[in-house]
Amino acid sequence: MTREITARTGHAGVIGAPVRHSLSPTLHNAAYQALDLDLVYGAYEVQPGQAAAALAGATALGFVGISVTTPHKDAIAKAADARTRRVELLGAANSVAIKGGKSLADSTDGVGLLADLARSSGFDPSGVRCAVLGAGGAARDVVLSFADAGADEVVVVNRSFAKAAVAAELAGDRGRVGSLDELAAFDVIVNATSIGLLPAGESDEIARSFAAHLHDGQLVVDLVYRPSRTLFLELALASGARARNGLGMLVHQAARQVEFFTGLEAPIEAMWASVEQEATS
Ligand code: NAP
Repeated sequence: MTREITARTGHAGVIGAPVRHSLSPTLHNAAYQALDLDLVYGAYEVQPGQAAAALAGATALGFVGISVTTPHKDAIAKAADARTRRVELLGAANSVAIKGGKSLADSTDGVGLLADLARSSGFDPSGVRCAVLGAGGAARDVVLSFADAGADEVVVVNRSFAKAAVAAELAGDRGRVGSLDELAAFDVIVNATSIGLLPAGESDEIARSFAAHLHDGQLVVDLVYRPSRTLFLELALASGARARNGLGMLVHQAARQVEFFTGLEAPIEAMWASVEQEATS
């Protein structure tokens, strides 16, 4: 059922480039419909360099919030009127709540991942040893979230050492740079690299190197959700590990944004139902 858009309808949306592939409108609109809110969420292609202008425009138009994707996360962290501690530490934001003409930037990816792991398998990050593959925006948020949630050790494995060191610092004295041949020693391994975007031949070889030391008893996560099962997750399952893709993280980071924008508890079941097709693709 599609809600009628009237002169009273409120607005929210995602900015990015590219943005046409985004599932955020599906997730957010499902939430607003389930909450019976007169609020509509769109997708806005905003070119690099235009993030601050887009935020000013959304604020002037009375939007309740915007989600932010590549390449605007750093620019929006700077452009917002205020930042949460997470955004101060990460230097990047994936969401901005707008109230009374003022914007507050937050980052919900890492907490979204932990919420999904807790909900799907009762996973508790306190006391675990975690390895994060990659040191980009998503990886840094995951490192910070595991550290905040009480992980014993958060090790970053990345092809560029300098970026790994910056990411590992987010975990304070529980963070360090590690290597692939240590992966057998960890309870949780999160692939937060962008190798899923490479041509299959190239990414397969890297996925095999990532998975070489996995074994049963480990929880292995790939932040990718298209396809729903990457070669890395296939190899993890074959080694006896438990595997989880990034769809739950996507749903839960959006749920946190719904709560951030509206102050209401997110209708998580309705949001999951809206992307059900993705879960089996
Ligand atoms: P990013 O900032 O561009 O970082 C990419 C990372 O991947 C970097 O650490 C990079 O290493 C590493 N990398 C790239 N190519 C590599 C290769 N050939 N071999 C080894 N490492 C390589 O990307 P991001 O925004 O963090 O996103 C990372 C992944 O997470 C993407 O697949 C994205 O779709 C996914 N993601 C999912 C969700 C979700 O809700 N499920 C949310 C956010 C992101 P260097 O540092 O050496 O360049």
